[in-house]
Amino acid sequence: MGLIGGEEGVQEATAGREERILVSVRLRPLNDKEINKFDVCDWECSNDTTIIYKNHNLSASDRSLYPTSYTFDRVFRPGCPTRQVYETAAKEVALSVLKGINASIFAYGQTSSGKTYTMSGVTEYAIADIFNQIGMEKEEREFVLKFSAMEIYNESVRDLLTADATPLRVFDDPERGTVVEKLTEATLRDWNHFKELLSFCEAQRKIGETSLNEASSRSHQILKFTVESCPCDFLVIDRSSSLAASVNFIDLAGSERASQTHAAGARSNWSL
Ligand code: ADP
Repeated sequence: MGLIGGEEGVQEATAGREERILVSVRLRPLNDKEINKFDVCDWECSNDTTIIYKNHNLSASDRSLYPTSYTFDRVFRPGCPTRQVYETAAKEVALSVLKGINASIFAYGQTSSGKTYTMSGVTEYAIADIFNQIGMEKEEREFVLKFSAMEIYNESVRDLLTADATPLRVFDDPERGTVVEKLTEATLRDWNHFKELLSFCEAQRKIGETSLNEASSRSHQILKFTVESCPCDFLVIDRSSSLAASVNFIDLAGSERASQTHAAGARSNWSL
């Protein structure tokens, strides 16, 4: 899972830009299919930041040719619940949107490695926390939470908040950066409204069938939440304390190329 936090919010405009990238790896447990085939897990976490490749398929002489351990910002064992992955690796980055800091959280890995499983949990925990935080601050600040969702499939972009599958035009705007024309942006009323929209998106999302996983996805999905806030009217002294930032939750398509999905390549049970 990759997390990118950049200070680009309204208030930070003069404070310079700082970017941070954190990379975490989550191992998933072997699934029934793998257990029935007596597969063994090739990866192991040796501590909170290191995974070890056990090289089961290599001969003893070949093993010495390959590095065996890789270090990341965080690694998570197969039994680790999504809640813990979120709390440890994603929460701080996701909640930075409330301070006007833009961020992206994305999952990368082979089909069936656990990207959608991880991202859907992380997204729901993050949005629940954002709503809770907004609830606690609502006496002092007014908030507007906006939500948009898109899918990139076969290089065309479609809006997941509408049943209309017409591809959307993407262009670079000198001030706003990359813009997806006519992308729906819904203003979220509450948690139930968010869940409703999320179910709608899931129904819209194209699922590609591959030989690796019957329900695997060949599309990228980007869920974008924008939080705008300003001090409540009676507290306003300085409008410059208005904040606006977005957090993107990105579930990438399987990292194997479509042409490789019929090849008997090595499978992995880790995503990042
Ligand atoms: P991907 O999005 O990478 O193709 P999925 O998220 O669809 O993979 O996961 C593939 C399967 O593995 C799903 O059935 C999912 O429920 C299961 N799975 C993934 N990660 C875990 C996990 N950490 N614990 C238990 N089951 C998992």
